[in-house]
Amino acid sequence: MKEPRAGETAFVALGSNLGDRRAHLERAVVALGDVTGTRVVRVSRWIETAPVGGPPGQPAFLNGVLELSSRLEPSTLLERLQEIEAHHGRGRDREPRHGPRTLDLDLLLFGERRLESARLTLPHPRLEERLFVLGPLAELAPELVLPCSGLTVRARVAELARAPAGAAR
Ligand code: AMP
Repeated sequence: MKEPRAGETAFVALGSNLGDRRAHLERAVVALGDVTGTRVVRVSRWIETAPVGGPPGQPAFLNGVLELSSRLEPSTLLERLQEIEAHHGRGRDREPRHGPRTLDLDLLLFGERRLESARLTLPHPRLEERLFVLGPLAELAPELVLPCSGLTVRARVAELARAPAGAAR
């Protein structure tokens, strides 16, 4: 009998800055737990962060990261993430890029996979620049080695925290 494919460890960033932010994030965690072939392993705390880029004056974000074990292909997992975003009222056509959003889900890492297609880049291209992502990721995987800088998540967080304000994008 064929062995089922082992799950790969994936990390997903969650963010919300519209409406009941905590409820959007918590419902997304439940929805991810219902995705076939995917299991939620751990969830970071939610942290409040100032918006980076986008229109001036938009509300603060609530951000977090979760660890998944997934037997899906990365592109299929991204589709599931986008379905969950859409279900939470996010209209990519209506909401300006980097503007306020009810729910944003980004696939940060999927095992060791490297991928560059029109729809999906892995590792996420801005992963190592964003304290609002690396902070929660450090809670779950401080010793994980980042693919671009070769630093651990913990070391990169310390480096970014020392950088001048506004350097992280
Ligand atoms: P944003 O609105 O900033 O969340 O960007 C979403 C767009 O980025 C979608 O069109 C995705 O297909 C694309 N994308 C590329 N790589 C990724 C990734 N690793 N995680 C999430 N979205 C991605």
